[in-house]
Amino acid sequence: MEKLSAEDRLFVLTGAGVSAESGLPTFRGINGLWRGYPVEDVATPEAFAADPAMVWQFYSERRQRHESVRPNPAHVALGDIERALEDRFFLCTQNVDSLHEQAGSQRVVHMHGRLMQSRCSRTLCRTLPFDDRNLYRTRGEIPNCPKCGALVRPHICWFGEVPFQMELILQQLDGATVLLTVGTSGVVEPAASFVRMARLNRARTIYVGPEEPSNSEYFDEVLLGKAGELLPSFVNVPLG
Ligand SMILES: [Zn+2]
Repeated sequence: MEKLSAEDRLFVLTGAGVSAESGLPTFRGINGLWRGYPVEDVATPEAFAADPAMVWQFYSERRQRHESVRPNPAHVALGDIERALEDRFFLCTQNVDSLHEQAGSQRVVHMHGRLMQSRCSRTLCRTLPFDDRNLYRTRGEIPNCPKCGALVRPHICWFGEVPFQMELILQQLDGATVLLTVGTSGVVEPAASFVRMARLNRARTIYVGPEEPSNSEYFDEVLLGKAGELLPSFVNVPLG
């Protein structure tokens, strides 16, 4: 990878591949099924309305699993890059885990929400998402919103819902001179379009991950391998 200049502004997009290197299974990694149900049928507002306890069981299992995983060298490398670039660095992740934060990242936006946060299930209720590591297995265990009384739900962007903080994300993407995409399949929109938007702005586009992405023709550089092994060398390149 060519070195970054002092004028570069780096926009990083990370996806499931980064978490997978820590041992967190992706939706696809668990064969798309949970207790025989397609995951797409569990992670929806409709499923929550029909059976909130079942949906919370699914996310409680994922919360429990999260307790045993640690950030890997890719997370650590991104934390190091952020420390070097400071506010010329922005990290947008499709991952809902907290591994970037655990590795020291601060300028990170979770476009698909956070596993370790919950919020009110009523769309119009204005209460903010809050940190929540609790496990809920029965309907009776699910807390109610202190403001409106509706059930609390995972702060996750479900199928059919709009990703979070898109205005900030697109603004940061617009100002970036380098787009670094790490460990995403290149399939999930709107993130898959980021590389096309970056190219329109003449930003340099770099892909790092184990498999060639489906949109690889849009990248200036495609580096195949474990992000945990490739990214640290990117950090060691003197910034200047
Ligand atoms: Zn509420």
